[in-house]
Amino acid sequence: MTTTAIVNIGNLVTNDPELGEGPLGQIKNAAIVVEGDKVVWAGPSADVPATDEAHDAAGRAVIPGFVDSHSHLVFAGDRTEEFNARMSGRSYSAGGIRTTVAATRAASDEALEANLKHHLAEALRQGTTTFETKSGYGLTVRDEERALRIAKAHTDEVTYLGAHIVSPDLADDPAAYVDLVTGEMLDACAPHARWIDVFCEKGAFDGDQARAILTAGKAKGLLPRIHANQLSFGPGVQLAVELDAASADHCTHLTDADVDALASGDTVATLLPGAEFSTRAQWPDARRLLDAGVTVALSTDCNPGSSFTSSVPFCIALAVRDMGMTPDEALWAATAGGAQALRRTDIGRLSPGARADLAFLDAPSHVHLAYRPGVPLVSEVWRAGARVA
Ligand SMILES: [Zn+2]
Repeated sequence: MTTTAIVNIGNLVTNDPELGEGPLGQIKNAAIVVEGDKVVWAGPSADVPATDEAHDAAGRAVIPGFVDSHSHLVFAGDRTEEFNARMSGRSYSAGGIRTTVAATRAASDEALEANLKHHLAEALRQGTTTFETKSGYGLTVRDEERALRIAKAHTDEVTYLGAHIVSPDLADDPAAYVDLVTGEMLDACAPHARWIDVFCEKGAFDGDQARAILTAGKAKGLLPRIHANQLSFGPGVQLAVELDAASADHCTHLTDADVDALASGDTVATLLPGAEFSTRAQWPDARRLLDAGVTVALSTDCNPGSSFTSSVPFCIALAVRDMGMTPDEALWAATAGGAQALRRTDIGRLSPGARADLAFLDAPSHVHLAYRPGVPLVSEVWRAGARVA
């Protein structure tokens, strides 16, 4: 197999403290050797072993590709008007999802796939090399199954979210909808998904319903994750820890008991500041979680209603500016943290054995992601050893 050395890296983030400085394992004037789809060596440029080929980073910073562990990209339609109205003073409620459900049901498979590919390409150009994406805008057996089938063609991190809201078809009988989500719909969807998720929130599903849904998914071999404590205090976070969910996502409204539960378990707290930005809501308190010893991930929540951004760098800038994270913590959360939220050890780092997913920044270091917000600093992206953007 051909080996390629990427040399003249101004500042390399490996996320392996044994390879370099600090928790990010940073190396100045660094090189990486890629063989096939893997990193086989990382260290100072002066020590780089002989390789078949060389690629000059020209002093740019290199970081692990972003791991976006939470998005909703199988959808159709547009919610510009809802956003515009909200920015003119109306508050967000989970009901807006129904608009996207109607548009998604009416769309062809081809239209849904084209839209998904468009947004994945947009994310890739911005440095995201791993995407998780969910169903949740179909809410019928047929429409949830096809959403997951389409998602699975483009990413291996696929989440069944039949329990996004109670289907409008069964609005008067939520118990019947939970039966469907845990029965026929689960049977149809489980073969296409790795994860099961539920929106545990007032107006969506309560703690008992969420427990029933995630438990049924686990029995079918799906791994749980949960939308928890986004719009209000609630049982979602502690339920996530109880069920050993990989991640509790949002974590905006937390009691001390919620924070203690997260600190005591293996559930990652995934913060999604694009949602708070786009709904003018209170920021999640990342500092409080980090100080308590909770593992934090950062993700976009890219969806057409409450967070229509595919930009992880934008989320990093928000987390640093408004959520008390340092630039180093935010970068870790958007790479290694995302990997942990997906229970993956092959991504989110650039040390030997990792998949060669790299983002090159037109900047001396990753600190510029927050220091120069809104500037397209990602100038080159590699995934699995291949230059893709
Ligand atoms: Zn979400």
